[in-house]
Amino acid sequence: MSSGNVRTALITGGARGIGLCCATRMADAGHFVVLVDRDAEALKEAASGFHKDRVACIVADLTEKAAPEAIRAEVRKKGIADVSILINNAGIAPEYKGRRRNILEIDREEWDLMVQIMMTATAFISQQFIPDMQKQKWGRIVNISSAAARGASGISGPAYAASKSGIIGVTRHIASNFGRDGITANAIAPGLIETRMAGTLDPSIQQNSAQRNPTGRLGRPEEIAHAVAFFTTEEAGYCNGAVLDVNGGSHML
Ligand code: NDP
Repeated sequence: MSSGNVRTALITGGARGIGLCCATRMADAGHFVVLVDRDAEALKEAASGFHKDRVACIVADLTEKAAPEAIRAEVRKKGIADVSILINNAGIAPEYKGRRRNILEIDREEWDLMVQIMMTATAFISQQFIPDMQKQKWGRIVNISSAAARGASGISGPAYAASKSGIIGVTRHIASNFGRDGITANAIAPGLIETRMAGTLDPSIQQNSAQRNPTGRLGRPEEIAHAVAFFTTEEAGYCNGAVLDVNGGSHML
């Protein structure tokens, strides 16, 4: 799937899992990719899979309030062309006895951490790059939400579900306000996907999810990247403010 023009695509959480698959799709479409993640070694390894002139890495920890500004400053410092595709993907789901903590168990520290990494970072990283997209009169923002924000989720925990629901709100806000600048914002809500994150769940939870799913399996990160790539194309310019469920049909809205 090619979007026609060569762009700069920045992907948070780009060192592994869904983020790395998204970056690969962007590179396949001819775009320059900027991988943002917190682990320099993991970034280096991820970048080794790309043509060295077509990739840049930025080490940033999204728990830090200053990270969004620092990421944009680093893009400038490295002389990278303005970002016009932004994929807000970084996320965590803290492990707890093979499941997530429920509302009675969660503490403020974990709540704040998850809201910060997912919802807050999505908002403020977008804030940093929307002006560059406005200058270009073109931008594509794709935010990774979750099935946890689309239906009752017993396994995700309240902080995760709230953060992922907030991401949909941020997406719709951007979509409502910047469409006339040629900027679209859409969200993807993946079901359970075979990455390290899903691997932190008890195997019985994974098996049950797979068995109950109409496809009889979990999703693959490449399948999420494919959906993300669609929203970044020229042709998807009238898709704005959408939430695309990619969950094998585990729930249908
Ligand atoms: P992974 O754990 O494989 O990848 C997440 C990436 O985000 C990692 O590279 C991780 O770095 C990075 N990251 C986490 N915290 C920070 C931080 N503070 N600063 C910078 N980078 C950070 O997970 P997935 O690929 O599965 O998840 C990608 C997105 O998809 C997440 O937003 C997740 O919530 C969402 N999602 C995943 C589902 C699934 O079943 N896998 C289902 C629905 C949504 P590090 O390795 O150092 O932790």
